[in-house]
Parts: sequence; structure tokens; C-alpha cells
Amino acid sequence: MTDLADFRAETRAWLEGNCPEGAKGPGTIPIGSSTIELEPDTRLWLERMAEKGWTVPTWPREYGGAELNREEYQVLIEELQRVGARTPLTGRGVNYIGPTILEFGTDEQKAKWLPRCARGEGAWAMGYSEPGAGSDLASLSTKAERIGDNYVLNGSKIWTSDATFCDYIFVLVRTSPDKPKHEGISLVLVDMHQEGVKVSPIQLISGASPFCETHFDDAIVPVEDLIGGVDNGWTVGKRLLQFERSTHAGINISGSQGGRTEENNLVDVVRNYAETKDGKLADGDLRDWLTRHAMNTHAQKLTQRRAIDELQSRAPGFTSSAVKLSNALNIQDGDELLVAAMGTQGLRWHEDTADARELATLKKWLYQKSLTIAGGTKEVQLNIIAKRVLGLPD
Ligand SMILES: Cc1cc2nc3c(=O)[nH]c(=O)nc-3n(C[C@H](O)[C@H](O)[C@H](O)COP(=O)(O)OP(=O)(O)OC[C@H]3O[C@@H](n4cnc5c(N)ncnc54)[C@H](O)[C@@H]3O)c2cc1C
Repeated sequence: MTDLADFRAETRAWLEGNCPEGAKGPGTIPIGSSTIELEPDTRLWLERMAEKGWTVPTWPREYGGAELNREEYQVLIEELQRVGARTPLTGRGVNYIGPTILEFGTDEQKAKWLPRCARGEGAWAMGYSEPGAGSDLASLSTKAERIGDNYVLNGSKIWTSDATFCDYIFVLVRTSPDKPKHEGISLVLVDMHQEGVKVSPIQLISGASPFCETHFDDAIVPVEDLIGGVDNGWTVGKRLLQFERSTHAGINISGSQGGRTEENNLVDVVRNYAETKDGKLADGDLRDWLTRHAMNTHAQKLTQRRAIDELQSRAPGFTSSAVKLSNALNIQDGDELLVAAMGTQGLRWHEDTADARELATLKKWLYQKSLTIAGGTKEVQLNIIAKRVLGLPD
């Protein structure tokens, strides 16, 4: 047997013996929050996978990983999917800030932060956007002033997802207000359980409230928790965005994506909603749309696979913008298709009149509009692709 075949056999045997039944199929995927209680099987699954180094399979062993190479990583994911296991741990710790610390952190910072990310000890929020600095992120004004051995933070971030139950937040701050805007920024790690950090939730059109405003009022950060050097935050922060975009695109190999159980097969759902004749969708346009969508979904999966095969690190550079965008557009196309198939009956909003499944589809359609905003808008990705991938003039 080849090494890879041995690895597959061992992985399969281990997963069959160690993945608890309650960690299979749909259910909670931990983000490591200290305030969210996990069901026993979900907790056991997280602990067993962390012990094995498989919550962050490609990270070095000394920081909680298993040092898998790209091929072994792909085998692990296939085997997780085979047993229907859920991802043991997700979130900005394993996917965004962890790999950024691996690339830019000092040995002390890696030793301090990475093992706890790998074990899911603390959930992370992202403090980038501000009311006056979204796409034009370098205009941010949250200030960090050095006083003795600390930075003191003042200012506000907006659209901070999950901030109500996060323990830490990585924040882009202005450390040198007199320098040109891209050159005076740093990335710092902030403990959210302190008096100087306040969080206010924001309600969305879908009814959910997944993100917040986060205010810093003399919040304290020890100087050793600044990552990548003072005033080097633009470089560090942009790389973190590539990890974020690659995660959205399904091509970041830091964390272990388990058997993401698609609750609905789109073809079956469209058939269920729309009128059929002789076993086929009666509406030719809808049939055509569904076929095109299925082909695009397959092409997207092949593109993700190719992007992973070509990786030189845990996530690509500018390729992340292209695959993130095509992935988001394809998901949104699927949502539009489902809503079209439901027809006007699918537009009922109130829980007492709407069918629960249709209402969930409608809310998902609204929520996933955000996929071409979060992590950088569609227009910003197109600008990056034009300039950095195609080399077009500014
Ligand atoms: C679901 C969701 C979760 C998010 N989570 C977080 C989070 O956890 N932490 C965080 O920091 N932020 C988060 N964000 C914020 C997100 O990063 C910003 O919304 C995004 O970067 C856009 O910034 P903005 O909203 O200020 O829009 P703006 O930058 O004001 O853009 C408005 C419009 O102008 C267009 N535009 C702007 N500049 C250009 C340009 N140069 N060329 C062409 N068009 C342009 C944009 O594409 C957009 O259509 C989240 C957003 C969403 C939707």
C-alpha cells in the first residue's frame, strides 16, 4: 500500500471508532465560545479531534495541528464526509487569525495563541469595518495609543459578527495617525471580557441579529499582542482577508471542514416546490435554470479542488477573491432559483401562515444576499481581480 492509502485506512478506522453518533449529520458546530454550552457528543468530538491535531490538520504539531500535507488533508476531509461527521470546530480562530499568526507571529505569540485556537478555547470576532471605513478600510480611525506596556484603544467597529458571544477580537487600529493612511495601521488581539469593550447587537431584514457594533473605550491590549510589527497592519490585515475569503470560497485548508451535510439537494427541493409533468418540471425555463445551476455548481467544486491542488500555503493569495466571488454568486443563483420555484406562495412571512420550510428558504435567500458584501463586496473583489490577477491598469 502507498503511504496515502495507509493514511486513508488508518483515518477511516479511527473515525469509525471515535466519531460519536451525536456528532454526525446536522447540528451544532462549535466556534469555541466560552458562553455556548455544547451537547456531550459535540464536546467529545471536539476534544478527540483536538487531541489528534485534526481541528487544524495542516498546522505544526507543536501548535496543536497534525502537520498533514495537502493530499492527506483531502483524504481526511473525504473520510469525514464518508462517516457524515460534522466539522469539529470552526470560526475565525482556526480559519482567520490562527493562520495569520502562523505566518506573521513571533514564536512567543504562536505558543500563546495557537494551541488555544486549535482546542477551541475562546471564540474570535473580527474588528475591521467602521462606519466610515468599509471598502475603503485603510481610512479606519479606531486609535491605539501606547502607554507603558499597553496599547489603549478608543473608537468603534461595526458589523462585528457574533460579537455577543465571542471572547476575543482581532482589531485593525491606527497606531501612527501622522503617517500615510496605509502605513499607520496595526493588528492587535483584544480580550473582550474587559470593561473597555462594549457590544450592541444590530437587527437585520431577515429578522436575525448576527452582528453588532463594538465600542472600545480605553480598552487595554498588552504590547506583546500586536501581530506582525507596529504599523505593518495593512500587510498583515490583507493576508487575513485572504484567509477569510478562502474560507468563504471553501479553499482554506487550516481547519477541518467535516461532512458538511447539505440539508437539501436543490434538484429535489425545486421538484418539490414546482409543478411537474411526466416526472419533469413543467416550466421549461425553470428546468433550463436548474440544469445550468447544477452544471455551475459542479464547475465550482472542480475549481475549489484545483485551487487546493495548487496551494503553496494554507490559502491562496488573490485567487481567493475570484473563487470567493464565483462561489457567492452561485449560491445566490441557487437561492433565486428556489424562490422562483416557490412562486408567490413562498413569499409568506408570518410564522402562523407560512410553511416552515418555505419560510426558512425565504430567510436564507435574504440572508445570503450578504455573501457578496461580507469579506469584501463584489465590486471590491472585481477590482482586485482586475488589478492583481489580470494586471489591468488602475
Ligand atoms: C454578513 C456580514 C458579516 C460581516 N461581518 C463583519 C465582521 O465580522 N467584521 C467586520 O469588520 N466587518 C464585517 N462585515 C462588514 C463588511 O466587511 C463590509 O460591509 C464590507 O466591507 C463593505 O463595506 P460597507 O458596508 O461600509 O460598504 P461601502 O464600502 O460603503 O460600499 C457601498 C457600496 O459601494 C461600493 N464601492 C465602494 N468602494 C468601491 C470601489 N472602490 N469601487 C467600486 N465600488 C465600490 C461597494 O461595492 C458597495 O456596493 C460584515 C458584513 C456582512 C454583510
